[in-house]
Amino acid sequence: MPTKTFAKLKASGRFIALTVRPGIINKHLTSAQLNVLARLADEGAVKYSAGHSFIVSVHDEMLDEVMQILTDVELYVVPPTPSAIMKCCDFCDGDELAALPIAKELLREIEQMPLKKRVRIGFNACTLACYNAVQDDLALIYHNGGFDIYGGAVPMGRRASSGELLAKNIPEQYIIECVKKLLVHYNTSNVEKFFRFIKKEKESIQQYLKGD
Ligand code: SF4
Repeated sequence: MPTKTFAKLKASGRFIALTVRPGIINKHLTSAQLNVLARLADEGAVKYSAGHSFIVSVHDEMLDEVMQILTDVELYVVPPTPSAIMKCCDFCDGDELAALPIAKELLREIEQMPLKKRVRIGFNACTLACYNAVQDDLALIYHNGGFDIYGGAVPMGRRASSGELLAKNIPEQYIIECVKKLLVHYNTSNVEKFFRFIKKEKESIQQYLKGD
């Protein structure tokens, strides 16, 4: 079993865990990226997570330097602040690109939107919905120029469950407005856990997503 886990490092010093990905959509690693991760594994720890990311444990004194090293080789670092975080599928390694323009727009408008807690948004470029988007807090599933939105998954524990369908066939020109409205609604609610918020507010969410 590993001897240098984040928990053990944190108990022995001021370590921070960074979430790192090969890219926002790209899932292939380059040799330069692997070299950087190998060096960081020697200095701290690198673990693969259930959320399709690397968890890189670094000493907080090294944080700025490590962020620079990671971004120099085009690794994507998710900031440790509470915010909206998108997790995209790999667009069939670039063979399914119809949803790419709207995915880029969503990333620009939604990714890292400050929130009271981190909200994971899964984005799938087709209805095969791999990368488990329906197990994320929100799932945006693209097909034929529109989106189905699922929300409120319980990602782990013995009561784990997928998100529920909140809206069907939202035209892509409205999706950013819909997601922003939902996130602002969550942020101003008095419910902390996202799945509890969805459960409590499901009917009103379904109404405004429908445009009522
Ligand atoms: S969700 Fe669809 S487009 Fe995305 S990787 Fe899976 S099969 Fe490809």
